[in-house]
Amino acid sequence: MLQVKGLSKSFDGFKAVNNANLDVQKGEIVAVIGPNGAGKTTLFNLITGIIKPDSGSIIFKGEDITGLPPYEICRKRISRSFQIVNIFPRLTVFENTQIAVLARFKKTWDLFTPSKKIAVEETEEILKSVGLFDKKDRVTGLLSHGDRKILEIAMALGGNPEFLILDEPTAGMAPEETSKCIELIKSLSEKFGITILFCEHDMEIVFGIANRIMVMVRGSTIIQGTCDEVRCNQAVQDAYLGGSDVCLM
Ligand code: ADP
Ligand code: MG
Repeated sequence: MLQVKGLSKSFDGFKAVNNANLDVQKGEIVAVIGPNGAGKTTLFNLITGIIKPDSGSIIFKGEDITGLPPYEICRKRISRSFQIVNIFPRLTVFENTQIAVLARFKKTWDLFTPSKKIAVEETEEILKSVGLFDKKDRVTGLLSHGDRKILEIAMALGGNPEFLILDEPTAGMAPEETSKCIELIKSLSEKFGITILFCEHDMEIVFGIANRIMVMVRGSTIIQGTCDEVRCNQAVQDAYLGGSDVCLM
């Protein structure tokens, strides 16, 4: 479904992403792991058009999407959440999600239609699917950190994605929020058939939900394989554990 080939991006001569390669098949959950500063967020920013690569290509469902602006990538049904939560804090849970749903429609709404009546059913369905329906009228600035991260996933779902990119979805969450988020990610894949690419530091989560793992170190992809292949790979050991031969997990 997604093929990243030889992708590179430098900032003032520093190679944040350096000849990265990645393949994601339809229906998979693929994790990108790597130490802080490895280039995971930059890779996601390149795929979603927030920044343009210096070289390399990004092919989505056979079409070259390299360098397209974010709104066009969104229209190809690729959505994302951010490492640092990106919501409208003074609007409600419902309104934030509704905005994301409305962004998809290429139409001007009648000035006299109350906004509360537009795309209500779809917005509510999304909130039910992520478990935020009960909190739909809350102002989002007052939500817990975990609920705000989940709301971002709801907003990403507003784009009706086939391909969803999650940048550290459980970062900073309390343990029970983390388990709910893991269940949510699994259900998006199993119930809705969404293909998922995510990055995450917690190896237990990674090995718990990923079908395959891509390891990034200093901007390059050093291995892409199944959980078992990655778990005991020597290069991964070296990157994570400084050469120790202890198996990850
Ligand atoms: P990760 O998400 O794996 O922690 P990032 O992709 O955020 O890593 O960052 C990779 C490297 O690129 C880091 O050294 C970071 O400081 C650098 N970097 C990322 N974005 C920029 C930018 N816009 N300008 C300059 N350097 C950047
Ligand atoms: Mg990051």
